[in-house]
Amino acid sequence: MTTGQIARLPWPVFSSYEWQQDGACAQADPSLFFHPDGERGPARRMREVGALAVCGVCSVLDTCRTHALSVREPYGVWGGTTESERETIHVRASRADRKMGDTRTGSSQIL
Ligand code: SF4
Repeated sequence: MTTGQIARLPWPVFSSYEWQQDGACAQADPSLFFHPDGERGPARRMREVGALAVCGVCSVLDTCRTHALSVREPYGVWGGTTESERETIHVRASRADRKMGDTRTGSSQIL
């Protein structure tokens, strides 16, 4: 994790992460949400579909997605989004910012 990524994280206090205890994934196998090195193609998509199904019944999905987008979580399925979906959201937000002449990176405007 880079210094910039660390700076986006919430303060490391329990209340900042308490919502994660209510996540539908709290008792799930983490390997469903985080891919092994080099995983590609159908295997990756199948794993992501399984993780997204868990997110689909999660009571803290909105909070989780907001967190993932605001801190730019680079890895795993968070808040019903995959790594590539979040990257697409950030790229589109950055392009929109540039069109508007805004030099900020877009993360804060996504939410
Ligand atoms: S939205 Fe998905 S990743 Fe986030 S807490 Fe719920 S189940 Fe876990």
